[in-house]
Amino acid sequence: MRKPIIVGNWKMNKTIAETKAFIEAVDPAVTDKADWGIATPYLSLATAKADAKNLIIAAENCHFKDSGAYTGEVSVAMLKEIGVEWVILGHSERRQYFAETDETVNAKMIQVLTNDMTPIVCVGETLEQYEEGITKDVVKTQTVAAFKDVCPKCAERVVIAYEPVWAIGTGKTATNEIAQDVIGYIRSVVAELYGQEVADKVRIQYGGSVKPAGLKALLEQPDIDGALVGGASLVEDSYKEMIAALD
Ligand code: 13P
Repeated sequence: MRKPIIVGNWKMNKTIAETKAFIEAVDPAVTDKADWGIATPYLSLATAKADAKNLIIAAENCHFKDSGAYTGEVSVAMLKEIGVEWVILGHSERRQYFAETDETVNAKMIQVLTNDMTPIVCVGETLEQYEEGITKDVVKTQTVAAFKDVCPKCAERVVIAYEPVWAIGTGKTATNEIAQDVIGYIRSVVAELYGQEVADKVRIQYGGSVKPAGLKALLEQPDIDGALVGGASLVEDSYKEMIAALD
């Protein structure tokens, strides 16, 4: 049985004070029906980690080197020092605006996993690729590249987020059937790489305009184990609605 995992990706939103207020309102409402988390900007992570008792606190990125002359970057050792053990990798916004490639995503996967942290690695096609009908080719390429040189024991800890780029922040969600079809396919790609036993352990989220009202039905799909939620994770009441939806 795979435990559902719902993580809010805050992107470049909320100050430290706003983060504190959110955690005060939401953290006590967290239940054990799922793993619940938020990924915050670097600056808020230490506060979030200190305040949260129940929420997983994740970073939105990290660097693949241990340390060095990489202005503006943050290493896994810095995250670990404040107790952050989860990191989103390869979000489409990083691929699109910050030159993240399959190769850098893979280097970050190795760095995070060898430091006993847990990555949430994002894959997903653009609108153009979706319209061309090459969604599965795209997610396969991204998944195979992300897992290059990752050992089976590490692989089973990875969370994958399938986020069709055309559904992010647009209000357009993939139907549950489309999301299930692609996520089932991603699981089969993991099975090709590591065998069915590992593939059955890997949790795969859907992301893209997820709203509290749709969460339960989404998670009823056999291969969908959670959600990576942008906009709807920023508002205390809406996050609490998601928690209530699974109760
Ligand atoms: P929205 O839920 O705002 O569409 O964002 C999805 C996302 O990018 C989560 O990582």
